[in-house]
Amino acid sequence: MKKIKVFLAVLFCKTVRFFAKLLGRGSSLPGALTLKFFPNILKDITPPETIIAVTGSNGKTSTVELIAHVLKESGASLVYNKEGSNQIEGVTTMLLCDSTLSGKAKSKIALIESDERFAKYTFKYIKPNYLFITNLYRDQLTRNGHPEWVYASINDAISDDVTLVLNADDPLVSTFGKNRNALYFGADKLSFDKDKNDSVYDDGKYCPICNAPMSYDYYHYNHIGSYSCPKCGFKKPQTKWTITDANLQDKHLTINGEHTIELSFSSIYQCYNSLVAFAAADIAGVKAEDAVKALSGYKMQSGRILDFTFGKAQGTLLVSKHENSVSYDQSINVVTNCKEDCAVLIIVDKISRKYHTEDTSWLWDIDFEKLNSENVKKIYLAGSYYNDLAVRFSVTDIPEDKLVVCNSVESAMEKLKDEESFTYVITCFSDKGKFLDIVKKGEV
Ligand SMILES: [Zn+2]
Repeated sequence: MKKIKVFLAVLFCKTVRFFAKLLGRGSSLPGALTLKFFPNILKDITPPETIIAVTGSNGKTSTVELIAHVLKESGASLVYNKEGSNQIEGVTTMLLCDSTLSGKAKSKIALIESDERFAKYTFKYIKPNYLFITNLYRDQLTRNGHPEWVYASINDAISDDVTLVLNADDPLVSTFGKNRNALYFGADKLSFDKDKNDSVYDDGKYCPICNAPMSYDYYHYNHIGSYSCPKCGFKKPQTKWTITDANLQDKHLTINGEHTIELSFSSIYQCYNSLVAFAAADIAGVKAEDAVKALSGYKMQSGRILDFTFGKAQGTLLVSKHENSVSYDQSINVVTNCKEDCAVLIIVDKISRKYHTEDTSWLWDIDFEKLNSENVKKIYLAGSYYNDLAVRFSVTDIPEDKLVVCNSVESAMEKLKDEESFTYVITCFSDKGKFLDIVKKGEV
């Protein structure tokens, strides 16, 4: 009976996947339909021998892409959710489509990107051998709640026999390792570190164990750094994989004092993504020199950084996430690290493509003050939330004559086509389509 059920489920999933692809539908639909008829099917299949999962607020898709690249280069037999469908439906599609009709995995390694809130459902039957947790930030508050809430959801997904691979520099993430089997990655003090947290808010102010004020030796960014609690002794754990040196201008980083990786796109976030990929490769048995070779100069394919030309304007689209201030801060850092004169266009037109919300409180968590930089000559604010953006910018010290407030994406693009400075566009997945469609047409 079980065999027939597995046979039917795999066949059904593969058939729906085939037609869904023809119709240009994503990879979660086949799994969703299969789960309707066979709700516990993941319990009955034989998954790959090794399951590596990645969760956390930011960097999941990029990290999974990098790990997959290194493992594929080393010739590993691998399946992963490259379309980023990271809830149980997408994972079901991925695993069933990689199975024989008897439900046995064809690949030896499964690499699973998992949504942090829904990890407990995905991992009910499919237990990862290694679970990487990248970071926990304020992200989609209306859907996820606070990082502590997300913490509790992930905590429910952790089984006893998993090896956790944790970001030692994120205090909330490192507490997952308490009384569990855990390995850590992180960065030593780097030349661009700060003594004070200069972000708009500080989620590392209090000890996640005893709530006493924490002290930091240094901050890499936001609340990520080297912390310790004077009251209960909680502190940054020892790391197995460590960024011992990083130079963002010359675009390289060194791991464990000896493995130097050249970066094609330089940011502290990309340093962490590369470090995680290096650690995963180490766990999968890839030689360090092969991992370095695969990671060096690798250009990300996930389309988060896109060059464009529109009229006189030339620039780069930095895809960020609405409702996620760290993601915006990351893009703002790219703008301020660029020493050339530039313009910036910020679009908030639709907050989410998945649900309706009009909450813009997250704009107040973003470090827009940093755009008050000599090289930033003009800032266009656009989209249906232009008023919210304008109010947020009115409390920065950015001179008013640098701000161009536009009540729609179209009116901003009308002005942008005569922009002569290099232009950075900062917006979300939910709004990038509108911008790119106009770029493609070549006119508003
Ligand atoms: Zn404490």
